[in-house]
Amino acid sequence: MGMPDDAELGSQFRRYAEWWTRGGRADLEDLFDAIVGADQTGFPMEPALDSLSRVDPRTLWKTFANDDLQDLYDCAQKAGLPGAAARFLNAARQAPVLDDGKIPRQLREQAMQRAGHRCQVCGATEHLSIDHKIVPWSEGGSSRDIDNLQVLCVSCNSRKGARPLTASRRPSNEKARGPSKRTRSSPG
Ligand SMILES: [Zn+2]
Repeated sequence: MGMPDDAELGSQFRRYAEWWTRGGRADLEDLFDAIVGADQTGFPMEPALDSLSRVDPRTLWKTFANDDLQDLYDCAQKAGLPGAAARFLNAARQAPVLDDGKIPRQLREQAMQRAGHRCQVCGATEHLSIDHKIVPWSEGGSSRDIDNLQVLCVSCNSRKGARPLTASRRPSNEKARGPSKRTRSSPG
């Protein structure tokens, strides 16, 4: 009857799922809903789980609560995708615990001591503050990891804020390669 076979359907859907995971947070949440509802709907969850599990872990834990990541882990286990399950688990483990962006007092003191109570850029000893170093908190950087903290004076801190953060630049594999083959049955 001209039905595409399973393998062909699988690869078509995989392309679609990959495009979906590049779409942003709302799309990821939609995909999650589709996956956890797959039992009822027959949604092909294997390629979707696989694609979703390959999303940057930081994006995963920023998008999904740990309970959700646990659900995805369970789904991947059930679907016989141990690699995807491991990636979901990894993302859950990377999620900081109740990281509200505030740096715990003890950690502030530790960072100050380590820096010798000096600005780590210019060596100033006044108007110091603790700053998220490599990854800003707004982009998922941890406030609970001393290696993501540095001591800066006011002027170095404001200079830092003005320049583009190269550390958070992603590898540029986000060339929109959406479902490019839009098979249009042209009349004629
Ligand atoms: Zn300074």
